[in-house]
Parts: sequence; C-alpha cells; structure tokens
Amino acid sequence: MISTLVVWLVVSSTGNLTINELHRTAQARLALYDSSLRAAVDQYRYLPYVVARHHEVIAAITGTGNPRTADMYLERVKQRSGAAALYVMDKTGMTVAASNWNTPDSFVGEDYGFRPYFSQSITGGEGFFFGIGVTTGRAGLFISNPIRGDDEIIGVSVVKLELDEVERNWQEGGETVFVADEDGVITMTSRSDWKYRTLSELSPEVRGRITRHQQYPGKELASLDIGQQLVKGTGIVTINSERFLFDDKHMQGSKWRLYYLTSMDYVSNRQAAALFITASGAGLIILIILFLRERELKLASQREAREFARIQALNIRLEEEIAVRRKTEEELRGTQNELVQAGKLAALGQMSAAIAHEINQPITAIRTFCASAKLMLERGKTEKLDQNINQISALTERMGAITGQLKTFSRKSTGVLEPVDLKIALDNTLQLLSPQLQQEECTLERNEPDTPLVIQADLVRIEQICVNIIRNALDAMADSSVKRIRIDLTRTKTDVIMQITDTGPGMNEETLSLLFDPFFTTKDPGQGVGLGLSVTYGIVRDFGGSIKAYNTETAGACFEVRLPLLKGKTP
Ligand code: ADP
Repeated sequence: MISTLVVWLVVSSTGNLTINELHRTAQARLALYDSSLRAAVDQYRYLPYVVARHHEVIAAITGTGNPRTADMYLERVKQRSGAAALYVMDKTGMTVAASNWNTPDSFVGEDYGFRPYFSQSITGGEGFFFGIGVTTGRAGLFISNPIRGDDEIIGVSVVKLELDEVERNWQEGGETVFVADEDGVITMTSRSDWKYRTLSELSPEVRGRITRHQQYPGKELASLDIGQQLVKGTGIVTINSERFLFDDKHMQGSKWRLYYLTSMDYVSNRQAAALFITASGAGLIILIILFLRERELKLASQREAREFARIQALNIRLEEEIAVRRKTEEELRGTQNELVQAGKLAALGQMSAAIAHEINQPITAIRTFCASAKLMLERGKTEKLDQNINQISALTERMGAITGQLKTFSRKSTGVLEPVDLKIALDNTLQLLSPQLQQEECTLERNEPDTPLVIQADLVRIEQICVNIIRNALDAMADSSVKRIRIDLTRTKTDVIMQITDTGPGMNEETLSLLFDPFFTTKDPGQGVGLGLSVTYGIVRDFGGSIKAYNTETAGACFEVRLPLLKGKTP
C-alpha cells in the first residue's frame, strides 16, 4: 500500500517536474525559432519597397519604358538577394515585369489581382501572404508594397520567398515545430506529413475565402484536431495516437503562430526512469532488509541452538548431579543412622561408669537387704521381713528402669514417624541421664506447659537430640562452680521450642561457627568425637525443624530446638 503510494508520488512528481521543465525549454526554443524565422523574412522585407521606387519599374508600369529593362532589373535583384521571385503588377493586378520573365513559369502577363496581398497594397498597405504559387505550384511567402506614381498608386511590387531552406533545417533539427497562419493552416513544419493540415476543422466561410484566393490549391486542409483538444486545457494533445506537450507563440508583426510540440514519450521515459530508479532503490532496500532479517534470524536460531545445547548440557549435568546427590543423601542417611547408633554407643560407653556406679549401689543394698533377711529368717523375726522385701523390690524396679532406658536408647530407629510428646521424650532422657546429673551434682530446672507438646517424629531420635545437648551441657559445666541446666519448653502457633541453657563457659566465635560440623570438637581425645551436634542437626532437619546455639547474657550456652507442632493430636 505504502509502496504503491510512494511509486505514485515519484511518478507523478517526476511527471510534473519534467512537464514544467519541458514547458520552459519549449518557450526558449519557440523564441529562437521565432527570431530565426523573422530574420529569414526580414532580410527580404525591404525589397518590394525598393523595387517600387525604381524608375525602370515605374516606367514599365506607366508604359513609358521598356518592360524588358524592368524584367532584367528584377532578375538581377532576385539573383543578388536570393529571393524566389520578384514581380510588379499594374493597378489591375496584371503582372507587368517579373524576375522569371524568361522561364516557362514566367509571371509576366499573369493576373494576380485575386491575391489578398494585391488588394492590401493597392490600397496603400504592405501585403503579407503565404500561399502556393498558382503559376509555379510552389509555396512561398509573398510580401508586397504599393508602387506610387506622381499622386496615386499605380501598381504593386511583390517579392516571393521560399522558406524551404528554413523548413529543411527544422526537419533536420528533429524537433516538432510548425507555423500556422491566421486560419490555423500549417504552412511550415518540421513534420512533412502535417503540412497543409489544420489545427481544427475549417469553417465553410474560411474554406470559401481560401479557395477564392487560391491560397492552397489542390490541398485537402484536413484537421489534426489540435484546436479542439487544447480547449480542454491540459496542454497535452494526441495527434495520430502520439501524445505531445503543446506550446505556442504569436509571431511578432504577423498573424502567424509558431507551435512547438514535445513528445510525451520523453516524459514517460523520465517517469519510467524515475520509476525504475525508485523501484530498484526500493527493491535494493527490501533486499537488504530481507538479507539482514534472514541473517538476524539465522544468528538468532544459531544462538537459540547454542543456548538449547547449553541448557541441555546443563540439564544433563544437573540430572547427573541430582543422581549423585540422591545417592550421597542415601549414603548420608545410612551413615547418619549409623552415627546415631555410634553416638548412642559412645554415650553408652561414657555412661557405663556412671551406670555401673548407679547399679552397683542398689546391688550392694540388695545384697545387704538379703543378708539381713536371711538373718531375720534364722532368728525367726519375720515381722520386718516384708519391709525388707519391699525395699529389695523397689531397688530392682529402679535398676529395671535404668536398663529399660538403656534398651530404649540403644534401640535402632524404625524410621517411622509417629506423634511424640516432647515432654515424655524429655522425661525419658532425663531419667536416662539422672545418674550423670547426680554424679555431677547438677540441678535441673524445667518450665513447660501442662498440655502435651506433640510433634510428628521418632521418639528414639528425639531422645537422642536431648541426650546429646544435655550431655554437652554437663561436659561444658565440668569446671563450673554452679551447675544448673534449665529446660524451657514453649509453644507457638506452629512450633514447639525447646531451650536448654547451662551455666558453663559458653562458646567462642570459632566454636559457634563450627558447632554443627561433623567431627568438630574441643574435647580431649577419647572424650568426644565431634559427632553429637552434627547428628542432632541432621535429625532436627529431618523432622522439619531447626536448631541454633548462642551464649546467654549471664554466661553459659543455650541450645534452641524448634520443631513443627502436630496439631489436634495427642500421643
Ligand atoms: P563432642 O561432644 O564429641 O565434642 P559435639 O558435636 O556434641 O561433639 O560438640 C561439639 C563441640 O561443641 C564440643 O566439643 C564443644 O566445644 C561445643 N559445645 C557443645 N555444647 C556446648 C555447651 N553447652 N557449652 C559449650 N560448648 C559446647
């Protein structure tokens, strides 16, 4: 659509510009043709005047001299001037003397009184007439002047010019130029086929006059139709299916008009050239755009392909990595379970002394009670035996509780999650650790709500968390004067928070940052392996919780475990 508009604009503006330019050129050419034609005519214009005043001519007219002398005079002048013919008529129009007196076409004795130039000059004016010679059959321009006697006009002198030379020059010039007389008859033209054609249809009156004057004998005077077309005012005419741009000019000092026609082929060629240039330019631009687009698309698709390959490679690497991670995770889980187990065993090892002490005491007591019971039986004092047996029973129950806890502790995790009350898990842990707590003379403080704090977990592993943190606290307080562990259990809307605070020395920066790393320990070899907290960390994470450690304001460390609360369940 836009391209059509552009093409139309280019073509029409080129057309307009070319037409304007051609009009200007045509006007300049017309001025040139006008002046050259006038110059060709003007050089003969004085001749009739000069001839009319010659005494031999006057003598010939008045019959006082020898006409032959006048003939010869006219012949001489004709030869000198290069005019086609010179002749003089008496006042009836009869030719008295002529330059061609001695040729078969001699005008002498011919009557040209019907010619308009004769009537113009016999009445005193200059005659000016273009027509075909009735005697010679050759076209020419007749210029006439009155011949004056003493006090009246006695005849007419005439010079005939043939403008064939000028016309030939026009034809050779290759331009389309012509002259039309006052009736619109083309008298001179560079296009020989247009000679004696008319600009428009002649009226019967005009035709009658032309015939009367025998101006163009034997000529059809057919119309080229130019006049009618020009009325429409486009400045463009079509003659014999050829289109022309039309310019004309009135010739000074005559009733003739000079016409200059430019072929519209020139305009069309210019338009075609402009169209071609525009189209080639547009085509080139389109080609360049297409080429650039094609290249851009190619580059984009190459980029996409590279990106795709990169992403694919990345995907493969990620998949491989995921597979490796998955495997590592499985291995880690296995290792973690083993570590939990190992941790428990390590704890057991450390606890064994305390346990041995704890169990030894009841055994010694039981032994004593048994011995005294035996003595009572021997002595028949059976009334206190019952009390004795009750005490033995109480002691064995306590021992059973200790071993029972140990069993729970050493039991391997089932891996199945179930609702667990954190308070119960803590009870179990504290019972398990009570020998150590007592041995270290550590006081315990517990703050917790009355309601159960149920989480989705594995009891054994939760106990493991508690054991690890409390044991660390006991270890840390080894040299503390006051040994106290405070356990706060609180709940938020979503979580259970367990804070275990001790009165130990707390942790330095390095310890704080490495605390949960496997095998990080500040303890002496044989005392700790640095696995407790990393195992704890893993377990808490497994249950969807978090763990952090910090120093309290009063000194001592606090371990805070946060586990998601299981809502609406009780164990
Ligand atoms: P281990 O007890 O075998 O050293 P852990 O992973 O349980 O391994 O503990 C790592 C380290 O964290 C301990 O060696 C100790 O330096 C520090 N730590 C743990 N708990 C406390 C605490 N309550 N007070 C001060 N330091 C602690």
